[in-house]
Amino acid sequence: MPCSNCHRNGRSCIIDPSISNSCSECVRRKVSCDGVDVGAQLVNAMEECHRLEVEEDKLLREIMELQSRILRTREQKRHMQKRQKELFDRCMVEHEKEVREELEASESYEEH
Ligand SMILES: [Zn+2]
Ligand SMILES: [Zn+2]
Repeated sequence: MPCSNCHRNGRSCIIDPSISNSCSECVRRKVSCDGVDVGAQLVNAMEECHRLEVEEDKLLREIMELQSRILRTREQKRHMQKRQKELFDRCMVEHEKEVREELEASESYEEH
């Protein structure tokens, strides 16, 4: 849809929204332009909305992925902590046994 200036003068109305909201003809004539291409702006706005929605979905998926990774890691950590405790207990039992055996050995040695 041409602006009123272009419409009046029978010019083709070209608007590049990335440069100006005025059409090239009105920019050249240094007059105010009412031909803002609403349609193109709407398309831009819709595309931007869609882009943001896609971005939002992507970030949400990343959060979910990270959450499941946190849960997996926590599960592994619990498992390892349990195993660590078991091994620690076994070590202590082994160590106590060794100490006792050493002690008994040295006692029996001293007896002789
Ligand atoms: Zn125009
Ligand atoms: Zn214009």
